[in-house]
Amino acid sequence: MRMLLIGPPGAGKGTQAVRVADHYGIPAISTGDIFRANVSEGTPLGLEAKEYMDRGAYVPDDLTNALVLDRLAQEDAGSGFLLDGFPRTLAQVSTLDDCLEATEGGLDAVVQLTIETDAIVDRLLKRAEDQGRSDDTEDVIRKRLDVYQEQTHPLVAVYAQRGVLVSVDGMGEVGEVTERIFAALSGRVV
Ligand code: ADP
Repeated sequence: MRMLLIGPPGAGKGTQAVRVADHYGIPAISTGDIFRANVSEGTPLGLEAKEYMDRGAYVPDDLTNALVLDRLAQEDAGSGFLLDGFPRTLAQVSTLDDCLEATEGGLDAVVQLTIETDAIVDRLLKRAEDQGRSDDTEDVIRKRLDVYQEQTHPLVAVYAQRGVLVSVDGMGEVGEVTERIFAALSGRVV
């Protein structure tokens, strides 16, 4: 089973990705988490990525694509995976398409998590207090929302056209949202 969670910053992708991936017994692969791990370990990739992340910009596609291809080639991703935060640009969609075609077919489901814009800023400012992420300041949050609308939101239409998109309301309790995702996926994935 190969799935993708897509939605604006603050929609709850990271939280839901772990729960959904556990349920289906597949790894959750989060590009944001991988970049943050590299930043805290001070790797060359981390140093480069940090400059973009702190501005609310996307890390360049070549860096991101190489990282994800490497991760997808690891053994635990062989029987499926849940992607969180990749692809985020049309160029990344092409890279993922090529990678999946080389094995057998595309994504089984793309779950779009929706959330109201006002709630996003509140959630991310709260996360800044709890987790101290350096990209969760109000200016950077607004910049990330703009970048999402411009570069990532168009992907929703691409996957809708392919017939794999399901939309799930991301407002409410964490557990409620997870149940909505399972309900939306039932019959689509095994
Ligand atoms: P959020 O979904 O809350 O924006 P993430 O943890 O998914 O946060 O990502 C944090 C940052 O990591 C992004 O703002 C971006 O700089 C970088 N990043 C993550 N995934 C990608 C990607 N697929 N392409 C480019 N940059 C990415």
